Amino acid sequence: MHSYSLLAAAKINLYLEVVGDRPDGYHELVMVMQSIGLADRLTIRSLNSADIRLQCDHPQVPGDASNLAHRAAALLQNRFPQAMKQHGGVEITIQKNIPVGAGLAGGSADAAAVLVGVDMLWQLGLTQIELQTLGAELGSDVPFCISGGTAIATGRGEQIDSLQGIEQFYVVLAKYSSLTISTPWAYQAYRRAFAATYVDVNTAGQTRREALHSGPMVAAIYHQDGPDIGHHLHNDLEKVVLTQHAQVQALKDAMAASGGLGTLMSGSGPTVFTLAATRTEAEAIAAQVRSQLSDPDLELWVAPFVSTSVQFSP
Ligand code: ATP
Repeated sequence: MHSYSLLAAAKINLYLEVVGDRPDGYHELVMVMQSIGLADRLTIRSLNSADIRLQCDHPQVPGDASNLAHRAAALLQNRFPQAMKQHGGVEITIQKNIPVGAGLAGGSADAAAVLVGVDMLWQLGLTQIELQTLGAELGSDVPFCISGGTAIATGRGEQIDSLQGIEQFYVVLAKYSSLTISTPWAYQAYRRAFAATYVDVNTAGQTRREALHSGPMVAAIYHQDGPDIGHHLHNDLEKVVLTQHAQVQALKDAMAASGGLGTLMSGSGPTVFTLAATRTEAEAIAAQVRSQLSDPDLELWVAPFVSTSVQFSP
């Protein structure tokens, strides 16, 4: 096989708590992540030359070596130079469906798909843990994007504990097309405003992790209790993003008033999502938000929860 087609799924955060500052300069986080059926499509093809080539159809996504998908292939080339000599370089084509700079980990999902696809193409036989360890070098969300499904993510987001799946639920996503938020900006703004609330991650980090493991959100997931999951949605970053962007706060208010199980901003935003028990309910919420906020810049999607992030596709 000299070519693979893969789907790389977006994620939402059902829970995101900022614990404090880590010695490595990142924030210590406690999160619950969920893969959703909104996915980029990647094709990974062998080349006769020892090149990494990338094509991407999206104007906001770099087409050069800074693209996270390109960096994923370069990392494997660096670690497994003999495999590249034997099997040739790779051409990566990305069809972007996940909005960019949206808090949905689109770049991380693409990087995860390249690690999984090139592992197959070069017959490296890496385990999921090995792929996740490599992925953590590219970005904190990449390890989750390799395993996907429903999971607790701690550390800087790269420590993954999978939970039982809750694939019966749906999500309505909404984002103003022209508004993107830089993840580093959101965390820096959070530090400026809330550093006084940070705890010492060495002494209290473990307590926060245990509190999430034994807390109400994980219990709600365990019981597959949609209203309870909706009730315990939480994202600390809303405190900086919603106060800086009145438009996103108004969007969240409109989504929350349209029914559903609960509404939250995903990651560093600005995507806002509402959980729904069925596709019919999700589509009704999307239609109501669309008619209430009739703004051509507003994009809406309906997607199911899914159990894997990277999927081989025909
Ligand atoms: P996260 O939720 O992980 O914080 P995000 O959804 O907010 O991420 P991305 O869509 O992953 O953000 O993109 C963030 C930045 O990364 C953009 O400025 C984009 O130009 C750059 N980038 C690099 N490679 C990619 C890629 N393959 N897809 C999307 N963006 C990429």
